Amino acid sequence: MTRRGSSYRSITSLQRDNKSCRACAEAGFPIESLPVAAGYAGQRAYMFGQAPGVVEGVERRPWRGRAGQTLRRWLGMEEAEFYDTFYCASVTRCYPGRVRSGGGDRTPTAREQELCSFWRQWELALLRPRLIVVVGGLAGRRLLGLRSLDESIGRRFEVGDSVSVPIPHPSGVSRWLNDPANQAKFRKAVGLVHEEVAKLATSP
Ligand code: SF4
Repeated sequence: MTRRGSSYRSITSLQRDNKSCRACAEAGFPIESLPVAAGYAGQRAYMFGQAPGVVEGVERRPWRGRAGQTLRRWLGMEEAEFYDTFYCASVTRCYPGRVRSGGGDRTPTAREQELCSFWRQWELALLRPRLIVVVGGLAGRRLLGLRSLDESIGRRFEVGDSVSVPIPHPSGVSRWLNDPANQAKFRKAVGLVHEEVAKLATSP
């Protein structure tokens, strides 16, 4: 049963309610897992993806499947460093299932995205991360209002007191990186993430 407080004073109480959220199922959407959430352990950066995959849905931990391995390889991070650095969240937090035609995972509908934005808004208010890494086009549209990867990869954005760096999605479905013209933008984006992560270590 979904429970949403009128306000939250701690990430612990927010996560407790988020973990039992069934808002999309209650609205009739065919989600196929319970919410996937990372534990909060003082991470100062926020990683914002699209939605969990099937592996994440089973383990109930973000970035556990092949896309997560690719993402860590891109960033040059081992698992421990990755999860110590980033609090991982996504536009929607339950595995949306596959599209009926079999062409990969279903993109969450606009209504599901809206239902799940409640959790993101409270997370950002409570955590106030210095760095937000936005992964993929849908996450970029939802959080930064970006229109396309072409216009945004390789750039920094300000979100309140945070710096945000978009990167492409590491799933095999994304073809954006296949274009050689995008490789330089991608390398610049990864460099920006490293710069901003390094700043976290020295900022108060
Ligand atoms: S996707 Fe988000 S809003 Fe929908 S049921 Fe899962 S946690 Fe709740």
